Amino acid sequence: MKLLEVQNLKMYYQTSQGYVKAVDDISFQVEKGETVGLVGESGCGKTSVAISILRLLPSNGRILGGRILFKGEDLLEKEEAKMRKLRWQSISIIFQAAMNALNPVYRVGEQIAEAIRVHQALGRREVKERVRELYQLVGMDPCRGRDYPHQYSGGMKQRAIIAMALACNPELVIADEPTTALDVIVQDQIMEELSKLQRQLGMAMIYISHDISILAETCNRMGIMYAGKLIEYGETASLFREPLHPYTQSLLASYPNLKGEKRKLSSIQGEPPGLIHPPPGCRFHPRCSRKKTICEKEEPGYRKIEDNHWAACHLLS
Ligand code: SF4
Repeated sequence: MKLLEVQNLKMYYQTSQGYVKAVDDISFQVEKGETVGLVGESGCGKTSVAISILRLLPSNGRILGGRILFKGEDLLEKEEAKMRKLRWQSISIIFQAAMNALNPVYRVGEQIAEAIRVHQALGRREVKERVRELYQLVGMDPCRGRDYPHQYSGGMKQRAIIAMALACNPELVIADEPTTALDVIVQDQIMEELSKLQRQLGMAMIYISHDISILAETCNRMGIMYAGKLIEYGETASLFREPLHPYTQSLLASYPNLKGEKRKLSSIQGEPPGLIHPPPGCRFHPRCSRKKTICEKEEPGYRKIEDNHWAACHLLS
């Protein structure tokens, strides 16, 4: 069952030099209880997709087209008061480096309790009990709720932020680079914890990361973003087995493979383009070693290769 459908979403930032086309005609969907990954280099528009879904745009952000259907209702048409109710209760977000967002002068448990009080009409004792439950859920001793943020390690702060995001039992959690600021061991623990919680609570998740290898084990499906476009989308296994787009192929070739033959790692030449005047045709063409003449002139449409796997590249025509 479809929980979220993003249809032809366009989100631009207005600047004195023109519109930055951060999200340009993107469509994907998330089924109930599934995990979808959005991967791409910094600045490709992943976070802009997340804040568009929650309508948490900065003052110069403009949604210029498309629909965002959550359980069939268009979030872009909802009044702000209804949207405020829906945020956190139905859809919550774990922001990039959110652990630094904990208020240093309040006890962490109190900050989680505050998030519950704002969204749910619970009595003092029930809120306290819910905070205890949440601490246990994310693998922390509830007694640590009395501590201040400076008494927590980085991993513990991130667990507290995850607890806060789960406080109202949302149906969809968006995790935007949830482990980027942590060392690899803690990264692994947090990703495992999130997967366990996702299975246990049955919620759907959108993971956003620049690191395709982190999402490989976690996501049912994955979308690859490049310069504001979704250039490939498919089941994770199919996308790893047979990446269709040259950018996805290059991304995968830049990570070591622990199984199979040893191979030389390669990097993607050049820089991602500016999004005020993105390259015409295929936006990847200035960096693509397989480009054809048509690639500089015509934007490739989506080609479906398997039922659940498609990509936008002229090579697939
Ligand atoms: Fe490369 Fe052309 Fe495919 Fe773009 S459309 S990825 S430039 S081959």
